[in-house]
Amino acid sequence: MEKVLILGSGPAGLTAAIYCARADLSPLLIDGPQPGGQLTITTEVENFPGFPEGINGPELMERMRKQAEKFGTKFIFDNVSKVELKEKPFKVYLENSEEIIETKSIIIATGASARFLGLPEEKELLGHGVSACATCDGFFFKGKEVAVVGGGDTALEEANFLTKFATRVYVIHRRDKLRASKAMQMLAFSNSKISFIWDSIVEKILGNKITGVEGIVLKNLKTVEKSTLNIQGLFVAIGHNPNTEIFKGQIEMDEKGYILTKNGTHTSVEGVFAAGDVQDRKYRQAITAAGNGCMAAIDCQHYLENLIKNT
Ligand code: FAD
Ligand code: NAP
Repeated sequence: MEKVLILGSGPAGLTAAIYCARADLSPLLIDGPQPGGQLTITTEVENFPGFPEGINGPELMERMRKQAEKFGTKFIFDNVSKVELKEKPFKVYLENSEEIIETKSIIIATGASARFLGLPEEKELLGHGVSACATCDGFFFKGKEVAVVGGGDTALEEANFLTKFATRVYVIHRRDKLRASKAMQMLAFSNSKISFIWDSIVEKILGNKITGVEGIVLKNLKTVEKSTLNIQGLFVAIGHNPNTEIFKGQIEMDEKGYILTKNGTHTSVEGVFAAGDVQDRKYRQAITAAGNGCMAAIDCQHYLENLIKNT
């Protein structure tokens, strides 16, 4: 039986693995469908402390992985398909194996996935002008014109942030009313660098991997008219989905499916901890996920120590 099973290999999962391994807990980590997590789909990461020149996302994750390996973390390249958390030991099922893993504790670090528009060019141009994170990529658009898609708080927050760099920020919303809070709306309406394009959706992204984004084709949903907007950056801010489908009904979550934590990283199930974007609808940064991973490992270590004391 495992002492601790870590689900996910993003900054939260790998940091938890480093701490658990150094605490002699011999962690086993399941990589999941995106080994290395969300940062593997970006280029330059400039805000992770310790890298003043910036670091390539995949390289940062490779370094974290090596550090976790160095202290003895074992990895399984598979996805978790099902968990049983109602009885102890917990049982975890894998997608591509008959093996059922039994474990005394679990650290859930399955992250969240940014929702995208579903356009074919979107994937190709991700990291080449298309982004889902203004905090991460805004700096690359100094002196350029960009667009943000979405009408919620995230879209307006991203738009406001982007005006620090871009000369013009277009907010493209599919309706004529914003979903964002009034305070956020007032901030955006009073920012002279932000222009709104209402009742419109992005139909096509123009450009390629070499030129980057060169523009977008918009469709007005009321008039059905199409138009081209010349921009160099497209930020998709239409929400995130936490990767928590497999835990539904077994662990407490909020109405959006984010796992609820208390006293650090404890979940509603004793012995199950959650770290990173899977339980964080606010900050969603690599450094906060890594910090959470550290907390989950320490919480888990204390839990296992108490288990031994009480048996
Ligand atoms: P994730 O990185 O999302 O990792 C989740 C892990 O869970 C993955 O390894 C996945 O395979 C695994 N998983 C999912 N489902 C299962 C399953 N069923 N079974 C097993 N494993 C599973 N933040 C910054 O601080 N700076 C940046 O510059 C930056 N740039 C970004 C650029 C982009 C394009 C994106 C999308 C995000 C960016 N972020 C950035 C945000 C940052 O990537 C996330 O906040 C961070 O990766 C969250 O870490 P995490 O470990 O919680 O989850
Ligand atoms: P959200 O509130 O769900 O808003 C998503 C926006 O994207 C909506 O305007 C929605 O349009 C639009 N949208 C969704 N799918 C789309 C599609 N396929 N094409 C075009 N547009 C699409 O998500 P969020 O803005 O990420 O916010 C999530 C939560 O975090 C909210 O509770 C928010 O208040 C909170 N948050 C708070 C702050 C803050 O307080 N500083 C900052 C960020 C986020 P419709 O409006 O038409 O549905």
